[in-house]
Amino acid sequence: MKVLVINAGSSSLKYQFFESKTGEVLAKGSAERIGLDDSSIIHARNGEDKVTLDLDLPDHKEAMEQVLAMLTSSKYGVIHSMMEIDAVGHRVVHGGEKFSGSALITPSVKAAIRVCIPLAPLHNPPNLTGIEACEAAMPGVPQVAVFDTAFHQTMIPRAYMYALPYELYDEYRIRRYGFHGTSHRYVAERAAEMLGRPLEELKIVTCHLGNGSSIAAVKHGKCIDTSMGLTPLAGICMGTRCGDIDPAIVTFLMEKEGLDMKGINSVLNKKSGVLGVSGVSSDFRDLEDAAEHGNDRARLAMDMFCYQCRKYIGAYAAAMGGIDAVVFTAGIGENNWNIRRDSVAELEYMGIRIDEGKNKGLRGVQMDLSAPGSTASVLLIPTNEELAIARETERIVSSGSATVE
Ligand code: ADP
Repeated sequence: MKVLVINAGSSSLKYQFFESKTGEVLAKGSAERIGLDDSSIIHARNGEDKVTLDLDLPDHKEAMEQVLAMLTSSKYGVIHSMMEIDAVGHRVVHGGEKFSGSALITPSVKAAIRVCIPLAPLHNPPNLTGIEACEAAMPGVPQVAVFDTAFHQTMIPRAYMYALPYELYDEYRIRRYGFHGTSHRYVAERAAEMLGRPLEELKIVTCHLGNGSSIAAVKHGKCIDTSMGLTPLAGICMGTRCGDIDPAIVTFLMEKEGLDMKGINSVLNKKSGVLGVSGVSSDFRDLEDAAEHGNDRARLAMDMFCYQCRKYIGAYAAAMGGIDAVVFTAGIGENNWNIRRDSVAELEYMGIRIDEGKNKGLRGVQMDLSAPGSTASVLLIPTNEELAIARETERIVSSGSATVE
């Protein structure tokens, strides 16, 4: 099946076009600066260099039409006509409590995504815009929503509830949702394949470490806990996000610094994390450079990151009653061997031992990094959220179901 995967942001629309059976990427790219000056489409056919075309893209619908024109053009295209697109899979950030699986898009599914806007005000509106742009440009082509939150819907109340007045949960659905679910699920499934054991038997901690980072406890194939919460601000410290802090800091800072809601949100989301601590950068490559040149705050930021990671691994092993594997994925998890090593340091007592020789220098390839004698495996597994969305889309369209657990 040929599946187009769409990840629509407020001013961008990223796409990957798959042959979903083989996982081959036929083409990929992104429409950039939609609705702004200097908009363009960056496009590449499989194995070829990128081309950038400056195009007027006043809105997502026009962007979608131009993407379709690229895919079908004689010069840059990979198909003769739009009719060859069998289905479209959309990344949708928040599915609230409504979606524990992916869903074939219908008017009622769109309405439910709209209901979740207060939970993800920056993400769900552009995701919906992307869906509607595709509906307009490709009428009749089945569309599927794949939610970042869905995989985590198996958490039980003791894991997802906050100790706030229960009425606030009733009124606003304030609870832990978790994010990066497509990635956690994908790497957990790959881990089971690598270990040659059924996922239903395994206790896995998946560490998705990128600009945004989250950790999940996947017991017998189901997420039982995860570090992000109502929003993607919670959990371990990130590039620019603070992660878990004492909630009293919020009102303290608002008072001391005279901050309004926008101001405090900006401090916690954009000025904190390893950027805030180091004062150098949110990018771990810059932090490593700075630390090598003697910058103590850059070293501190990375130490904090690894220490917090390690604490979550320990906590989730306790929550699952054991651990069979730790998986590292995403930009940092796949590329930064120092962070991998330090995140499992001193966990030998739990049977987690990383082979430093195998780990060192390794980037972006699937590999078992466990040292001899390790009872829990340490795995590097590159994530592929787009392929996971393509496969989910194929599954939903083939099964013909409206919503699937
Ligand atoms: P996002 O959450 O935006 O998708 P990524 O998963 O791309 O983020 O992760 C970004 C982080 O990954 C950065 O801190 C960067 O240092 C690290 N990273 C990405 N690629 C590499 C690489 N090739 N080598 C080292 N670090 C990398």
